[in-house]
Amino acid sequence: MSAFPLSVFDAVAPLRAQVAAWRAVGDRIVLVPTMGALHAGHLALVAQARAIGDRVVASIFVNPTQFGPNEDFLRYPRDTASDLALLAEAGVDAAYLPDAAVMYPAGFSTRIAVDGVSEGLCGGFRPGHFSGVATVVTKLINQAQPDVALFGEKDFQQLQVIRRAMRDLDIPVLIEGVPTLREADGLALSSRNRYLTPEERARAPRLHAVLTRIAAGLNAGEPAEALVAEGRTVLEAAGFGPIQYLEIRDAGSLAPVSDLRTGPVRILAAAYLGATRLIDNVAAG
Ligand code: AMP
Repeated sequence: MSAFPLSVFDAVAPLRAQVAAWRAVGDRIVLVPTMGALHAGHLALVAQARAIGDRVVASIFVNPTQFGPNEDFLRYPRDTASDLALLAEAGVDAAYLPDAAVMYPAGFSTRIAVDGVSEGLCGGFRPGHFSGVATVVTKLINQAQPDVALFGEKDFQQLQVIRRAMRDLDIPVLIEGVPTLREADGLALSSRNRYLTPEERARAPRLHAVLTRIAAGLNAGEPAEALVAEGRTVLEAAGFGPIQYLEIRDAGSLAPVSDLRTGPVRILAAAYLGATRLIDNVAAG
């Protein structure tokens, strides 16, 4: 049993009324959007939310519009009972679980498209993905009306797309990134890690090792091209494939860069290990 009462909402009006009541007494409200199948990475966002706010709202919605036709929407893991228990235990004040009819009522016709930061990387391999993300996150933020919304650096391009969309649309919310929580061997926690066979799981940390090696090389002044080529070779030798991308980008604009002269960079990768698509990224500079 949790020491914290968790209110569960599935509609916009009661959620907004609760948030308004909290705000009326001066509380700072933090939203943590998720797709459920919660793990310690999500709970790191909740912990950060509790540290910086007075009230925490966590949303769970597996958003169909951010999945491509051949992606895993139907088999995406769903475990609401366990998720709610974890959120209660973590001290979340309100869980928001809208269903598809609340998010996309009949006649829904609007889409937010973010140019620039959503192009290339995951955006190049998942057409429409970031438009789906930007649209649903804008809706969740307008519905919950938090002061702050937290997103993991694990999905670094997503974080930059959301920052850009909120800025461009003058949506009055502070977007903050939270560092990636990893297993002891470096593998970034992800709801999709459960798809890995034990044998794949043993090889999966190589992705983070490759990114870390490229970051160290860049920091030491080694040439980017050779570092990336070496990284690809190591990933292929570990059984990764196809490697969708392994790239060095400006940490803010996500423009392609090949050294640290223009400021901090991010090294980002997406690659399949068997049937599972893994993504990760690290900082350099
Ligand atoms: P998801 O449920 O996969 O949409 O993720 C919900 C939020 O949790 C997103 O902001 C993710 O970036 C974040 N997240 C997922 N995995 C991790 C992790 N290992 N460390 C930190 N944040 C994460």
